[in-house]
Amino acid sequence: MPKRVRMLAEILDDKCTGCRLCEQVCPTVAITMRERVSGDSGMGRLIAVMKDEACYNAQACLEICPDNAIVMHELEEPFDVGIDMDTVDMAAVNELCTKAGYPAPREICYCTTTTAGEVAAAILAGADAPEKVALMTGIRTGCLELCQQPLLQLLHAAGHTDMTPNPKTGLQWYGRSAQLWDHVQPDGTFPKDLLEYFDGYRPEREAPDMAKASKDGRN
Ligand code: SF4
Ligand code: SF4
Repeated sequence: MPKRVRMLAEILDDKCTGCRLCEQVCPTVAITMRERVSGDSGMGRLIAVMKDEACYNAQACLEICPDNAIVMHELEEPFDVGIDMDTVDMAAVNELCTKAGYPAPREICYCTTTTAGEVAAAILAGADAPEKVALMTGIRTGCLELCQQPLLQLLHAAGHTDMTPNPKTGLQWYGRSAQLWDHVQPDGTFPKDLLEYFDGYRPEREAPDMAKASKDGRN
């Protein structure tokens, strides 16, 4: 499902102090910094600059700006971001999704309703880092949290294991958490002590296809 972008962020130059926080949290790297020059309003050595077409209305910048220097405007012409799944190689998409442990139709970003299949399609089309996947699919432009792990898992399954945050000083967290699926045993079951620790959780019963995927060598 495409994400419909309805709002655009604007930097208020006279209020921006160049603290860089917005640059560090924007999931689509829509904000960069430049030197203040004479004639610019406001104070500080740097000033934030918005790349309008890369702003997907995540509003992370708005929330973090300590100087209220960012406002949102309604777009006169909202636009959609997403992958046309009718044009992708579904066999390759399914293969990558299975390797990552997520069925292709599963929504992994609840804010934008982006599916694992859409993310896999973006990765197969060349997106090799979270920001690039976000720009192609719209994923991670909502809460910026819940989809992070499945997104990293899919990138990891495609061999992108050494990504660095963009920008390098960004607050993006690229660490992949340990998952139960990482502990699947050769017979497709999970260690007994692990299941006892997560008492009541029955991964093999709930998702035998995932257990099988892990058994078949997901990692
Ligand atoms: S609204 Fe979101 S996408 Fe747009 S600049 Fe701010 S953080 Fe980036
Ligand atoms: S967070 Fe606010 S004050 Fe800091 S650089 Fe961005 S717009 Fe400027």
